[in-house]
Amino acid sequence: MNFELLEEHRALQDLIARFVTDELLPLEPLVLEREAAGRGSHLSAEEQARLNAKAAELGLYGLDAPEAAGGMEIPEIAMVGVNEEIGKTITPYVLPPDSPNLRMLMSTVNDRQREAYLEPLVRGETVSAIGISEPGAGSDPAQMKTTAIRDGDDWILNGRKIWISRANVADFTIVMAITDKDKGAHGGMSAFLVDRDTPGLNVVRRIPMIGGHDTYELELQDCRVPGWKLLGEEGKGFASMQLRLGSRRVEMAANCIGMAQRALDMVCEYAPQRKTFGEPLSSRQAIQWWIADAEIRIHACRLMAYDAAWKMDQGRDIRQEISMLKVYATEMAWEIIDKAMQAFGAMGMTKEWPLHQMASIVRLMRIYDGPSEVHRMVIARNKLRGR
Ligand SMILES: Cc1cc2nc3c(=O)[nH]c(=O)nc-3n(C[C@H](O)[C@H](O)[C@H](O)COP(=O)(O)OP(=O)(O)OC[C@H]3O[C@@H](n4cnc5c(N)ncnc54)[C@H](O)[C@@H]3O)c2cc1C
Repeated sequence: MNFELLEEHRALQDLIARFVTDELLPLEPLVLEREAAGRGSHLSAEEQARLNAKAAELGLYGLDAPEAAGGMEIPEIAMVGVNEEIGKTITPYVLPPDSPNLRMLMSTVNDRQREAYLEPLVRGETVSAIGISEPGAGSDPAQMKTTAIRDGDDWILNGRKIWISRANVADFTIVMAITDKDKGAHGGMSAFLVDRDTPGLNVVRRIPMIGGHDTYELELQDCRVPGWKLLGEEGKGFASMQLRLGSRRVEMAANCIGMAQRALDMVCEYAPQRKTFGEPLSSRQAIQWWIADAEIRIHACRLMAYDAAWKMDQGRDIRQEISMLKVYATEMAWEIIDKAMQAFGAMGMTKEWPLHQMASIVRLMRIYDGPSEVHRMVIARNKLRGR
């Protein structure tokens, strides 16, 4: 295995780093101010449009989308560097399109869906959401109750979805539903492309989360979806959903590496300047060990992320690696940010600094796309299989 990135992929990471420094970091004070005032940590429509225009100008659209759909088909391994840089800021900007949903679409769309959904998403013209979780089915999506029943050429969807990110702005939501109750999740779960204005699809509630993040509750009430909007094969939705979550978890791990690296850099800059009891903090063994442990864990996590991404590019089954990476990266970043907040004393507690926002972002990551305990269960189950 070669751990050197190709020259072009290193150049791409440098370009993203400049985009973060020039465009995203200057917006942080505004984002922090809004969050502290209880107005959420979102970008305004104008800020979003300006950033999209800049990203398009720099050629940063559709980085990992297929060339056939207008993208650049950058491999997962190069996306690790991209997402590490993006993780270094708390400004909530996602380079269009949303990669995980893109991956799911790439593996499932037919020609008509490619033109209607995949290509506009790659061009950054649309925003997507995914509806998996339900009030009674989160960690264990196999328990979902939302149904899709055939009616002539159409499907009728009924059920509730909760904690759905971007449901307020999404042009379409990939809704997971049970199409065969007897078969359940494996063989009886399917995915549907449901447009925002479809009658019977209602956003019923905004749910404010920590860190100024919002999720939404959706209701599907006799929601009629044309037959051609069944995504992938009927009954095979679970596998393509897992594929989506796999790439999302590598992306999340890379974001965690970026956040942890920034927290560590902040401590390394501050500790030599701040004196207590006549000595700089950096001379204290407690602080030095935090720094050393952070450096070790970031390095280990980066290797795990590159390993998973490389294997993913080879088309290997890496569910075990993905689960290990998701747990390790989110817990590593959480602990490093916590230590950084401690090292900054009261300054680490202020809402004027990004550390608390980084902590909230990582805290959310320890829940979505599978809580740590569920990934540990999966890792141990795989390890114990056949014993
Ligand atoms: C910010 C945010 C954004 C989200 N966005 C989306 C989205 O866009 N689309 C979507 O479909 N969903 C989304 N979710 C939902 C997310 O995927 C679920 O919250 C997650 O799967 C956990 O489900 P749950 O909240 O129902 O927790 P539960 O399943 O009720 O689990 C609660 C806790 O129990 C413990 N636990 C569960 N199972 C086990 C076990 N087997 N062994 C030991 N402990 C266990 C864990 O500690 C877990 O945190 C989002 C969630 C958050 C927080």
